[in-house]
Amino acid sequence: MAATSERASTATTRRKAGRHRGEGQWGVGHHTPLNGNEQFKKDDDGLNVRTRIETIYAKAGFDSIDPTDLRGRMRWWGLYTQRRPGIDGGKTAVLEPEELEDKYFMLRVRVDGGRLTTAQLRAIGEVSESYARGTADITDRQNVQLHWVRIEDVPAIWEKLEAVGLSTTEACGDCPRVIIGSPVAGIAADEIIDGTPAVEEIHRRYIGSKEFSNLPRKFKTAVSGSPVQDVVHEINDIAFVGVDHPEHGPGFDLWVGGGLSTNPKLAQRLGAWVPLDEVPDVWAGVTGIFRDYGYRRLRNRARLKFLVADWGTEKFRQVLEDEYLKRKLTDGPAPPEPSTQWRDHVGVHRQHDGRYYVGFAPRVGRVDGATLTRLADLAAAHGSDRLNTTVEQKMIILDVEKDRIDSLVSGLEELGFQVSPSPFRRGVIACTGIEFCKLAIVETKARGISLIEELEARMPDFEEPVTININGCPNACARIQTADIGLKGQLMLDADGNQVEGYQVHLGGSLGFDAAFGRKVRGLKVTSAELPDYVERVLRRFEKQREDGERFAT
Ligand code: SF4
Repeated sequence: MAATSERASTATTRRKAGRHRGEGQWGVGHHTPLNGNEQFKKDDDGLNVRTRIETIYAKAGFDSIDPTDLRGRMRWWGLYTQRRPGIDGGKTAVLEPEELEDKYFMLRVRVDGGRLTTAQLRAIGEVSESYARGTADITDRQNVQLHWVRIEDVPAIWEKLEAVGLSTTEACGDCPRVIIGSPVAGIAADEIIDGTPAVEEIHRRYIGSKEFSNLPRKFKTAVSGSPVQDVVHEINDIAFVGVDHPEHGPGFDLWVGGGLSTNPKLAQRLGAWVPLDEVPDVWAGVTGIFRDYGYRRLRNRARLKFLVADWGTEKFRQVLEDEYLKRKLTDGPAPPEPSTQWRDHVGVHRQHDGRYYVGFAPRVGRVDGATLTRLADLAAAHGSDRLNTTVEQKMIILDVEKDRIDSLVSGLEELGFQVSPSPFRRGVIACTGIEFCKLAIVETKARGISLIEELEARMPDFEEPVTININGCPNACARIQTADIGLKGQLMLDADGNQVEGYQVHLGGSLGFDAAFGRKVRGLKVTSAELPDYVERVLRRFEKQREDGERFAT
């Protein structure tokens, strides 16, 4: 008893000490760095590392890189060291970073709004072939990730990408990450409003600017004026969702404070309607609140969602209006539920100008440089100059005339892409996993591909929309909490007592209709070997027990 009360009193003292030190919020005068990340950001802005990469590191090689730049600031330019091959998941938590990492980098190319021209896709394909051993993955935030990049090649890669208007600026790090946007913005026949000008203006004004290059942690933005709501706005730090205001017309409903990982939270509406031309200012106001009032003491409490949860939406909106915008926002209605459950735009769809867009499905976002170049050629040969990426690791070719569709669909199939894929190919996404990620515990991409193949063979008649998201560790890069079946990688014992790769199962998550996080099924873990059997069992049970119109998540 005495020990218990002593422990309680120590914990209380610690909590009080924590309060006394504050949360490191600049806006209330706490400017002393409270952890190593805050210290290195204060010592030198992450954006400044580019000069050192160009003038020192690319010339003198990997071993010349300052460790704080290597594991900290280089992220501001989309660079992470990748996992050394052959290190199993059991070592992830015990090895030092320098033992886990290879002398090669993952390089993330930001694709704001998911918008790519054929010239840009070709440039990525060529960079992949020349400098990244042919690797290229479409991520679930519309970016493209390359692997096996040497520091010596980074300046040449930047030159090539920047020549076509692409960049890796703030693709990672504690700063505004890629702005995800509807991949059919400006073309969809059912669009409420085209958010592209806002995406471009936020990028032009603020990406690479030191105004927001030192945020408490990463900051994720989503903009969509599509009734499909195709940008997972519920799990972004800030989101602008298309809505028709009864008096003012089309504009955006403002959401803040969504995010996954530890303590997942769905974004909340501030009840404000924002016209298109005010989106960049409102974005800057919310980002300013995060910069100034966001928590900087503990990394796992440094996302905007914690501030929103503590303040509540009323106070958040008031601070935004009074301190940042210096005016009141207009009240506005909630957007209606999304008009379809699939939000990936796969298939052939008519544009408002009478042409068509064609969405197709790579498996778990895995493509390669040579294929990307061929894709660009294929699109160009069919009269299109645009190929956009989606947040489901899929792609879309835009602006196709009706009489070219059949030929394009055949060409895509020759490249291994399906326009009418199975629900499994459509619904499975996977994070980077143990192949390249230093935090990973298990394999993900290859597992996702083999799971798709197994399910297609076993359940050829299954037609329900289903999402199966695979993560290689307890982080949430593949949004497992939002999937019908979420699989969180971990090591476990199989029936014979051997340590093997497996997954903790989350069931029943969803976005869009009745957004909710999946339930972690107590004690329910499956080994990788058991995975196809397990998923098949769950889906067959659903098929058997479902009532008319019932979705998997309900
Ligand atoms: Fe790496 Fe984990 Fe993110 Fe997957 S979820 S990419 S394993 S950090």
